Amino acid sequence: MGYTIENFINGKRLSSGSDLFSDIYNPATGHIIGQTPLSTADETKEAIAAAYAAFPKWSTTPPSRRAQIMFDFRQALIAHQDELAELLSREHGKTLPDAKGEIARGIEVVEFACGIPHLLKGDYSEMVSSGVDSYALRQPLGVCAGITPFNFPAMVPLWMYPVAIACGNTFVLKPSEKDPSVVIRIAELLHECGLPEGVFNVVNGDKSAVDTLLDDPRIDSVSFVGSTAIGKYIYSRGCDTGKRVQALCGAKNHLVVMPDADMDQVVDALIGSAYGSAGERCMAVSVAVPVGEDTADRLVEKLAPRVRALKIAPYTDPNSDMGPIISRESYDRVLNYIDQGIEKGAELVVDGRDIKLQGYEDGYFIGGCLFDKVTSDMSIYTDEIFGPVLSVLRAKDYDEAVGLINDHEYGNGTAIFTRDGDAAREFCSNVRIGMVGVNVPIPVPVAYHSFGGWKRSLFGDHHIHGEEGVRFFTRLKTMTTRWPSGIREGAEFHFKRGSDV
Ligand code: NAD
Repeated sequence: MGYTIENFINGKRLSSGSDLFSDIYNPATGHIIGQTPLSTADETKEAIAAAYAAFPKWSTTPPSRRAQIMFDFRQALIAHQDELAELLSREHGKTLPDAKGEIARGIEVVEFACGIPHLLKGDYSEMVSSGVDSYALRQPLGVCAGITPFNFPAMVPLWMYPVAIACGNTFVLKPSEKDPSVVIRIAELLHECGLPEGVFNVVNGDKSAVDTLLDDPRIDSVSFVGSTAIGKYIYSRGCDTGKRVQALCGAKNHLVVMPDADMDQVVDALIGSAYGSAGERCMAVSVAVPVGEDTADRLVEKLAPRVRALKIAPYTDPNSDMGPIISRESYDRVLNYIDQGIEKGAELVVDGRDIKLQGYEDGYFIGGCLFDKVTSDMSIYTDEIFGPVLSVLRAKDYDEAVGLINDHEYGNGTAIFTRDGDAAREFCSNVRIGMVGVNVPIPVPVAYHSFGGWKRSLFGDHHIHGEEGVRFFTRLKTMTTRWPSGIREGAEFHFKRGSDV
């Protein structure tokens, strides 16, 4: 049975009184190591009430004071990075260097949030008309909610709440029930840095906790990251109840290999981006699109031995390239897709299905899999598999390659590998995707730019973190002011040019 996760409400760890729990597994052994409570509606409302009560004081705390807490929070995350990575890998299964990397990317968002006094500076126009001045500023929304996935249990929440609370909002986070330990520990660290009680709260649970957040009128915005089906639901239900919603969803990321690309560089890029974290990344490359038969043959020939050589092992093995899949259900889903690929006639060049690790026979390990001669009607191409499976789809020319990407329902990330500046520029201009790499396989924007996809990879208008994040977590207020100076022109009944007001 192991440990039981607590909620974090009003500055304290609290045990849930719920009778319902979701098991937490060590995916390397398949054993249950803990339990996440599926909090009751009353517990979720308690977290909302704490955030709601904390808002008036927090939103009027000077931004420079809020930034000071972010500076201290950054230091605390750095000081505890090893401990946090261990908590994370134990439940998620990813390698320790990967877990540390995810925390480092999260820390970058905290660093961005340290600049909040500058980011909240407004605009001022003197004399928009005689004796009339105008200024605009951004104010916090109120109580913001976050709902996050299992695959980046530390980083994805950090995309949201540092920016939200630095802007003066309070926050309720509902993390993934599969790996919530790291979030609770981070909440504790944040409070040790002086964050007032109630500003940041964590409530564990499933759909029922999410629905309580979506329906509660005290919640002003919802940030979701997860699968497309759930994201679409959250977007429509959240909008129906009048909230601002951003829902970042699933993906199918293509990497185009032009005939002039440096093939060694391409293979390195594909190995890391397709198989890192066992392919459980929304920016994982899951489709390689070599342009021309000769490019495709050279690619598969160089790639296949590298896929076979991947070291699959639990996170406790320092030489591990990739760990297990998160759950039995995900494991079965990935195997099922591989069966479908074979049935539809794709060529399974590297088959990682039969891997068995001594001492970890019940773990959810799948070795790297490589399909060649995939076609665009196959489910291994159309669907997000979220596992260590790379499909090679051969395109006859550049136009066909870009057409594939633009026609795909997802639009999160993509990359082109080439030495040709013309081709790269044309690709960046015309590809219908939110994040684009040129000779960079996983073009995840740094924290002061913004992260987000197009098409069915994002519902809503705002990308996350960076200046888009500040816009999402604030609303604009514009003042037009005149100070009486003895001028009286009488009542006006018609609309005028602004400068004549
Ligand atoms: P998921 O959609 O199953 O879960 C995400 C969150 O939604 C969890 O907190 C979960 O408890 C909650 N949830 C699950 N079912 C729900 C329901 N019926 N109603 C309300 N809430 C529900 O996603 P996951 O499996 O945890 O994560 C993997 C997915 O996340 C992949 O599709 C991946 O592409 C996506 N993802 C996207 C991004 C991005 O930025 N676009 C980043 C990371 C992950």
